[in-house]
Amino acid sequence: MENLVYETKNGWESLTDSQKKEVFYFSKGYAKYLDNGKTERLACREAVRLAKENGFVDLEEKETLKSGDRVYMVNRDKSVYFAVIGKEDIEKGINFVISHIDSPRIDLKQNPLYEDGELALLKTHYYGGIKKYQWTATPLSLIGVVALENGENVNISIGENDDEPIFYISDLLIHLATKQMQKKLHEGIEGEALNIIIGSTPDEKSEKDKFRTTVLKLLNEKYGIKEEDFLSAELEAVPNFKARDIGLDRALIGAYGHDDRVCAYTSLMALLEEKEPQKTAVCMFSDKEEIGSMGNTGMRSAFFEYATALLIEKTKGTYNELSLKRTFRNSDCLSSDVNAAFDPTYPEVNDRKNCAYLSRGVVITKYTGSRGKSGTSDASAEFVAKIRRIFNEGNVVWQTAELGKVDEGGGGTIAQYVANLDINVIDCGVPLLSMHAPVEVASKLDIYMAYKGYKAFYRNY
Ligand code: MN
Ligand code: MN
Repeated sequence: MENLVYETKNGWESLTDSQKKEVFYFSKGYAKYLDNGKTERLACREAVRLAKENGFVDLEEKETLKSGDRVYMVNRDKSVYFAVIGKEDIEKGINFVISHIDSPRIDLKQNPLYEDGELALLKTHYYGGIKKYQWTATPLSLIGVVALENGENVNISIGENDDEPIFYISDLLIHLATKQMQKKLHEGIEGEALNIIIGSTPDEKSEKDKFRTTVLKLLNEKYGIKEEDFLSAELEAVPNFKARDIGLDRALIGAYGHDDRVCAYTSLMALLEEKEPQKTAVCMFSDKEEIGSMGNTGMRSAFFEYATALLIEKTKGTYNELSLKRTFRNSDCLSSDVNAAFDPTYPEVNDRKNCAYLSRGVVITKYTGSRGKSGTSDASAEFVAKIRRIFNEGNVVWQTAELGKVDEGGGGTIAQYVANLDINVIDCGVPLLSMHAPVEVASKLDIYMAYKGYKAFYRNY
């Protein structure tokens, strides 16, 4: 008799030894991508480098496009759109996989540098949803750009190489923390307390601002910048450690920025393997998801429509608005973002029958939102059925989940903005432990299954 009961299982038991080897091998390339891409700009640049190695060329340099062509388009160094042109008329629809490459972090303020208590420090403004206490007393690197008035960009990266100094946000010693420890967790460390130590020696030749001057002199020597240049800089303090295996069996990866570079990398790897797909295949990395997808590099900007319009114009030789709308209406999209994995230490926040587990595969999330599904794009039953079929036929290990129990909290993804353009969309990504912490945890099996799932989706068997 047919098995009428549905249950997901740990994916490791269903893999052969050679498949397990493949899973472990795949994760090595991913770990490297994480280490080379700790900011949205670096994650974008590194992805473009990988795409170019695989025959992708700048979309704007192509006059016309034909089946099998491989193109990319970068948006302000922070977001990128990759496409492989399909055999079929583009108006019959595109298969999109869209992730984001910004991650929670600590940004410098515009006027960051000050001195106090014989130290030079940097004021910061955190980016995205963080538990502030997790970012104190932990090693940080400083990465980003300083844009000069003459149009040049000075790239800065300090802390990633072992011979470079690192940065640090202090926390109160436990001995004197009686009052702090009585505060609520979210008040224990305030936003204005995330000050980064950048120096501690006085400049002997200066009368005042001695500690600031030491730092400014060093920055000027190395990068040719002065204090005013901080005004037009984007400098991000990010966790200093590299991606590492977790556990004796080495089956998990601990790293900064899994959310959501894990879905970005896996979707790009799936796209790179497409030679001449039936439908045009697009993989896009958006920015600013962690702060609501606002801004001209976020998913709510017109860039996504512009890049798609260019594809239509260059494949068909003509373009009109109706053509773009028809293309969107016929398109499917996986909003590839992470979900929370069940944590046995905090079982109370999840409904065990409707949450994701590490190593049970890539997660489909029909709806996100909070309270009564507020702020979600709820994928239609028919679209869920289609993805089910694609994943089952492609032997993908997969599971479904909500983000936590009803009324426990919640969150959203870019799915709603894609849905508003009249595209079928569902969230589909990798489950994580400790999402948004300086080190997040993902299972190598789930990472591999995300890649396999995106590949099956592009092939749409
Ligand atoms: Mn995310
Ligand atoms: Mn996030």
